[in-house]
Amino acid sequence: MLVKRGIAVSPGVAIGAAWIFGAERLRVRHYTTKSAIDTDIARFRAALDAVCVEIEGNQKIANQQLGEQYGAIFGAHLLMARSPQLTDEIERLIREKINTPEYACKQVLERYAEVFRNLGNQYHAERAHDINDLQSRLLRYLLGKQRQELGDLSKPVIVLARNLTPSETASLKREFVLGFATEEGGPTSHTAILAGALELPAVVGIGDFLSEIENGDKVIIDGNRGEVIINPVESVLAEYLESQQKFRTNYAALEIERTAEPITADGERIQMLGNIEFPGETEHCLERGADGIGLYRTEFLYLGATKEPSEEDHYNAYCEVIHSLGDREVVIRTLDLGADKVPSVGVHHPASANPALGLRSIRLSLQYLEGFKIQLRAILRAAKHAQSGRVKIMFPMISSLYEFRQAKMVVRDVMDDLDEAGVPFQREVPVGMMVEVPSAAILAEEFAAEVDFFSIGTNDLIQYTLAVDRGDPAVSSHYRTGDPAILRLISMVVKAAENHKIPVTVCGQMSSDPKFLPLLIGLGIRRISVTPHAIPELKAVLRQLNIPQCKDIATHAEWLGLSRVIDNYLQGELRKICPQLGR
Ligand code: PEP
Ligand code: MG
Repeated sequence: MLVKRGIAVSPGVAIGAAWIFGAERLRVRHYTTKSAIDTDIARFRAALDAVCVEIEGNQKIANQQLGEQYGAIFGAHLLMARSPQLTDEIERLIREKINTPEYACKQVLERYAEVFRNLGNQYHAERAHDINDLQSRLLRYLLGKQRQELGDLSKPVIVLARNLTPSETASLKREFVLGFATEEGGPTSHTAILAGALELPAVVGIGDFLSEIENGDKVIIDGNRGEVIINPVESVLAEYLESQQKFRTNYAALEIERTAEPITADGERIQMLGNIEFPGETEHCLERGADGIGLYRTEFLYLGATKEPSEEDHYNAYCEVIHSLGDREVVIRTLDLGADKVPSVGVHHPASANPALGLRSIRLSLQYLEGFKIQLRAILRAAKHAQSGRVKIMFPMISSLYEFRQAKMVVRDVMDDLDEAGVPFQREVPVGMMVEVPSAAILAEEFAAEVDFFSIGTNDLIQYTLAVDRGDPAVSSHYRTGDPAILRLISMVVKAAENHKIPVTVCGQMSSDPKFLPLLIGLGIRRISVTPHAIPELKAVLRQLNIPQCKDIATHAEWLGLSRVIDNYLQGELRKICPQLGR
């Protein structure tokens, strides 16, 4: 039995067979058999030929598109792959040591790479990368049959991967995936958020562990504690089967909360909205008693799509949400592509050394104006099917007043175009912004005079304020939601919103964590937008709170001043308020 610890990002317990995504991480068998030596040598030669054809293809493309000096890079790869010395060494290991071709390739190429690395200059270090690249290509071909795609899944498994992109996570078939665990990823990465939306127990940021697992091993994902247990002993398995049952029962016990009003014990009505990525999730939100949708992440229309969404695709998706909601509100956030959400279709998204600080979000929309207008037309047309003011437009990642004004101007232009073309659309559409860049929080007073509403995106606000990549497990201990700087910024935004009488919501993951609920209410927040599955539990906590108590908690937390201490304090308060949650 092996226990690995990571970051718990989606609660629940999943038990099942391991299914490793990405052949590069498959365990390589050491020995073949004497009788298989000739077949294995033939397999190696076929893989080498296929790799050479692939490299020649890349060389041709590089020659044509970039010039021969770039094509020469692949020429060097080809020379290496065709080197008789390399082939001899690998074949000797297969023949004499009865090694599998996979193992022999790894052994020889890793040794070559090591020699280059130790030569001690940049040029040779780069050659070591080239050798690694050759090794992965060869392994990919040799392991080809074992390589599986997410789309191939036909029975329920636990998916284990180095990393899953948001589009890969979005394409997971719910019926065949019991849960997942990844070596990379942080607590508020979009992959983690999707795990919550799909209600799959998940652990991310475990670090290197895939080389210790084989396909089919029994695995437990503990999404409550952030643990992955490989090949559990009988007693542990029995314990987990019981806790899986308990989790389901607790969840069912919260059922009653779904229909309850989100109201504090002293009668303050809080708006509890849901966050969605796909139109189908609207029903999940309503089943759990959401007041509406406080954040619709529309970029998921692009992720996993095989062609660029047309105006009608946008329009149909928005109409679906609007119709499901009846007279409830929906905040449609315009595309937040970029960083880890890289579209494979449509918008050209250039590579960047620091993608989270690059051409992301509203910056990309303002640059790719044609696509932005298509989306706005679709929203304004779809909003015609809702009561006025019920559909709201929100711009993500606004970092300056100028940017907000530019984006708003595009809305006006699109309205003029629709008017001119005689296309029916909704004129009464409030236009607001995410507050998720520190500059927006600092200038909240100025922004509040121009926008119709604020929504605080704590996921990015924390990332940008504390300079911590939200997807990087190496710095996840620095990603502190309760940091005093974050509390101060939230407080500033709430005050600005109060001064200008505009609504303010918190839609980052912070508001889905019940421990932060008393604090947020104490800071003056009256609207939260959360992961749908968190709603019943949040309602249960909310109904135990009263406003003076929340204000005291907020004042005390601000006074404590250290994020770790604040965290422990809030956890303790939650335990006192709601002992039945058992945290
Ligand atoms: C946020 O940053 O808090 C947010 C809600 O937006 P996203 O998670 O989609 O970046
Ligand atoms: Mg964000």
